[in-house]
Amino acid sequence: ITSRVTQPTNSSSLDNIKNIILVSSGKGGVGKSTVASNLAVVLAKDGAKVGLIDADIYGPSVPTMFDLVDAKPGAEETADGKTKILPIEKYGIKLLSLGFFADPGQPVPWRGPMASNAVKQLFNDTNWGELDYLIVDLPPGTGDIHITITQSFPISGAVVVTTPQQVALADTHKGLAMFRMPGINIPILGVIENMSYFTPEELPENKYYIFGKGGGTKLAERFDVPFLGEIPIIQSIAEAGDNGKPVALNENPLLDVIFGDIASKIA
Ligand code: ADP
Repeated sequence: ITSRVTQPTNSSSLDNIKNIILVSSGKGGVGKSTVASNLAVVLAKDGAKVGLIDADIYGPSVPTMFDLVDAKPGAEETADGKTKILPIEKYGIKLLSLGFFADPGQPVPWRGPMASNAVKQLFNDTNWGELDYLIVDLPPGTGDIHITITQSFPISGAVVVTTPQQVALADTHKGLAMFRMPGINIPILGVIENMSYFTPEELPENKYYIFGKGGGTKLAERFDVPFLGEIPIIQSIAEAGDNGKPVALNENPLLDVIFGDIASKIA
């Protein structure tokens, strides 16, 4: 990825992609990348052809979550002399992260327009081949990258991830409102509440809503969009993220149901 100005948007790389789905959040740290990665895994396990773009320029998580910290994507020359990036394939998913192009541990000093151009290249200048779903892990908040992506590409819809706390819900409200703004107007596929409750191993029937209950549902009602589900706080989700193997790759009956249900509602 370079900071050069890209060609005017040319959707030829995207012609064979059936659905582009954005995963967004108002705040960082609510589990947006966890949801994006596991949705990609669940859809791929179901037989779909899936790609995942990590467009979180300031905190790319895909390299860690897929154990690809030192990975560098290759490139190929097309018949008409253009260079295309080749996504990295892991666990049956085609992956591309802005993190693959930055030095690990170094801050990314790009200003808005440079970052926007870099993100456009992840879409336009990449050989994605045929995909049923391209999942896009957006940066938190509502910024340049959101405007670029929503205005440059044919987006099927957006999923919004929140946690139950008031501070997260307030920012999620802004994120949802952004998708409804004139000029953006992206269909909202629904709200996912992450870290909703905790169930101790010794009390398997109990759900403790430690950050408050019902906030995600209320937000979905306020915007008249589907509430897609509650994801509990589970140690294996955090461990899986850190160990580079999304939790949905393991057999976990509860999470299989939860992620499977969310995937079926947006598929
Ligand atoms: P974001 O993309 O919103 O910044 P991440 O997906 O990176 O958030 O999640 C932040 C941290 O919380 C990660 O370490 C992740 O593994 C952990 N995490 C996310 N969801 C859960 C959950 N439901 N239970 C336990 N840990 C979680």
